[in-house]
Amino acid sequence: MNLHEYQAKRLFAGYRIPVPLGITADTAEQARKAAQELGGQRWMVKAQAHTGGRGKAGGVVLADTPAQVQQAAGQMLSAPIVTRQTGPAGLPVSCVLIEEPCAIATELYLSVLIDRETQRILLMASQAGGMNIEEVAAATPEQIFTLTVDPSAGLQPYQCRRLGFALGLTGTQVRSLQKILFSLVELVQSEDASLVEINPLIVTETGDLLALDAKINLDSNAAYRHKDWQTMRDISQEDAREARAAEHDLNYITLDGNIGCMVNGAGLAMATLDLVRLQGGAPANFLDVGGGTTAERVAEAFKLILSDDKVVAILVNIFGGIVRCDLIADGILSAAQQVGIPVPVVVRLAGTRATEGLARLAASDLQVTTAADLTEAARQVVAVAGGKV
Ligand code: GDP
Ligand code: MN
Repeated sequence: MNLHEYQAKRLFAGYRIPVPLGITADTAEQARKAAQELGGQRWMVKAQAHTGGRGKAGGVVLADTPAQVQQAAGQMLSAPIVTRQTGPAGLPVSCVLIEEPCAIATELYLSVLIDRETQRILLMASQAGGMNIEEVAAATPEQIFTLTVDPSAGLQPYQCRRLGFALGLTGTQVRSLQKILFSLVELVQSEDASLVEINPLIVTETGDLLALDAKINLDSNAAYRHKDWQTMRDISQEDAREARAAEHDLNYITLDGNIGCMVNGAGLAMATLDLVRLQGGAPANFLDVGGGTTAERVAEAFKLILSDDKVVAILVNIFGGIVRCDLIADGILSAAQQVGIPVPVVVRLAGTRATEGLARLAASDLQVTTAADLTEAARQVVAVAGGKV
């Protein structure tokens, strides 16, 4: 689960990580009032959406008067923001953050994440902040410094000093950085964050360190011990189909291709995507309908897949262990009755009651192709989807 910048900055403040003073607004009028409340001569207006790259997309604006704040906020709130991370549809903006501007001397990059390879918390920092860190990593990897936190010893002051001096900071600034790093590690552990990114972490003209931007990903697997997360969730920023799938306990992720895939079990679903790719096709989604699948959930899954208008063919791959293949067949037929299935469907059923399931499909007037094994099914669905992409 992702947080908005203003939510992340509130969390930062709670962990004594310095952030600029700011007020959120839902309307242009509120934005003007927020500017007056903040006082000062100039203001930053920042569109709140779950994406980076807002600066280059008109989502970060410096305003000289409260009237300009109002105008910039009105513009941001009137249309989705399209950045290089969002895709052409963009993301809706229903809130802006008004902040006091900061005089920047240097823009640093700082992030904390879980390194799966070492199974430790990893801190990453660079002097090349404000930019796309992937590009820095590709072109000048020597500009990125990392440190890993030993889980039993914890973060060590000498590690922070080493990182600070590598970033070219002064003694006082290194001490500020050390406090921020300790706070960040504490935040990641207490809040069950999987990623915290500050880009840029600035050194101001007076030599202070400040988090000018804030990105936090929370580990959804830990949601059960953070009841307050529900109030921070913004469904308007999530993929609509993925949110609907979650309501039905379906594990669904939108992909770029045109072949809808309905599979039980995450491992089998991954293998199915690989095989479709191997045959030259492009999957439109990952979908694990789960182990205890019922006919209703299969019908829901079908509706979900069909609501994506990129889908030109569907591959059903079910291995009946706990789940009964005849019930899967019922689900497919019920979906066909409820919404109609306008695209060709290739079905591979194996395991418990597969023969009965296939017989039910054959007896119906639904146009389905059945395949005996997975490779054959993948080959067939790629063919009916129009061949290799
Ligand atoms: P992002 O583009 O979505 O990552 O949004 P950021 O919050 O990182 O803002 C983008 C850029 O705007 C930053 O890298 C800064 O260069 C600039 N910026 C943001 N806030 C301020 C500010 O208070 N003062 C100044 N001078 N520049 C700012
Ligand atoms: Mn940023």
